[in-house]
Amino acid sequence: MSASSISFLETNVPKLSKLVSYIEEIEESDIYSNYGPVNTQFEKSLVENNFSGIGGCVTVCNATIGIMLALKYVTRHIRSSEKPYILMPSFTFAAAGHAVMWAGFTPLFTDIDPATWASSRESEGEMLAAFSSRIAAIFPYATFGNPIDLDYYNGLSQMYDIPIVVDAASSLGAVDLSSRHFGTGFPFPVVFSLHATKSLGVGEGGFIYCADTTAIAQMRAMGNFGFEKSRHATICGINSKMPEISALLGLEGLKKLEEISEKKSEIAGLYRTYLPEFVFQQQSGKRSTYQFMPVRVPGADKERRGRLLTLMAESRIGTASYFSPHLAEQQYFSSFGGSDSLPVTAEVASSIISLPVKYSMTEGDIEYISSRLRMNMQRAFN
Ligand SMILES: *Cc1c(COP(=O)(O)O)cnc(C)c1O
Repeated sequence: MSASSISFLETNVPKLSKLVSYIEEIEESDIYSNYGPVNTQFEKSLVENNFSGIGGCVTVCNATIGIMLALKYVTRHIRSSEKPYILMPSFTFAAAGHAVMWAGFTPLFTDIDPATWASSRESEGEMLAAFSSRIAAIFPYATFGNPIDLDYYNGLSQMYDIPIVVDAASSLGAVDLSSRHFGTGFPFPVVFSLHATKSLGVGEGGFIYCADTTAIAQMRAMGNFGFEKSRHATICGINSKMPEISALLGLEGLKKLEEISEKKSEIAGLYRTYLPEFVFQQQSGKRSTYQFMPVRVPGADKERRGRLLTLMAESRIGTASYFSPHLAEQQYFSSFGGSDSLPVTAEVASSIISLPVKYSMTEGDIEYISSRLRMNMQRAFN
C-alpha cells in the first residue's frame, strides 16, 4: 500500500542552504551576474558532461526567453515581412508559441506522428512544399524529452535553406540512439530549460547549446544587450543573463542529473509494465527525460478524460493533461497561427493523461497509481 496522497510534480532543485561556503565566495567576489565565474564554470561543465566537450553553451534566465533569442539569432538576416512563419508542432507548451510571437513571427502548425507524438515528417513536408518561401525557421520540439532525429532536420535545413531552432526544454538528460546526450554536435541552437519542474531545476533558468561556438558567442552578446564590443550594440539584444546564484544551483544539480534521469527512466519503464493496455509514446532514443509520464487512455475522448481527471483528483493522485488544449486550440494562437489539418494532434491531445514521475517514487507507488487509474477509467467511461 502506498502514500495516501501523491502529488503530480516534485522538484529536483539543489538545497541552496547546503551551499553556504559557495554563496560566501560569490559575495566576496561581488559578482552577481554578467556571465560571472560561477556561470562560466557551469557552462564549461555542461559542455563537458552533457555534450562530450563538443561546441558551447550560453545560459539564459529561462527557456522561453532562450527560444526567443535563438529564433532572433537564426533569422537575423531575414525580414519577417517576407518570411512571417515559423514551422512548429501544435502539440507543445504555450511557451513555444509565445516565443515565436515575441520574436516577431507567426506559428505555422504541423500535425504530429501517431507513434512518437513529435512533428510528423509528412505534415512538415506538405507545409514546406506549400509555404517554404514564407518560412523563416523550422522549430521542432523533442516532445516530452523524447529525442528527435536531428540529422533529419539538418538535411531539411540544407534542402530548403531554412535555419532550425530545437525546443529541447524538457530534454536535459536525454540520450540519443548513438548514446550521446541529446543535441550533441548539432550546428543550430538547441534550447534547454532549467525551470524548477525540469530534470535539473534551478528555479528559473535555461541554456542554449550549439556545436557552433561562434553562434554561441553571438547569442551571448545578444543576451547582454547586443554588446559585441564594449557597451556598443552591434546585434539585436535583450537581457537574458542568468544570475551567479542560479548558476551555482546548476553546477550542484549537474552532479545528480545522471542518477535522477536514470531513476525516472526506470519509473517510466514500470508504468509501461503495469499498464500494458495503454498507449505510450514510442521511444526514439536510448533514454528520454521524464517530467511526468504521458499516456493515451484507450477509448478516451475529452469528456471521458475530463471525468477521469476528476476521479484521479478524488483518489488524491496528481495528474494533468499535457498538451490539451494544444496550441491551435488556444484562442491567442488560433487567432494568428495557420495550420495544417491536425487530426493526429486532436486525437492524441484529447486522450492523453500525464502521470507523476518522481525520483522518490517506489514500484509500489506505480502499482497503486496504475490500479487506481484502471479503476477510475472504468467508472469514468461507464
Ligand atoms: C518548460 C518548457 C518550456 C519553457 O521553459 P521555461 O524555462 O519555463 O521558460 C518551453 N517549452 C517546453 C516544451 C517546455 O516543456
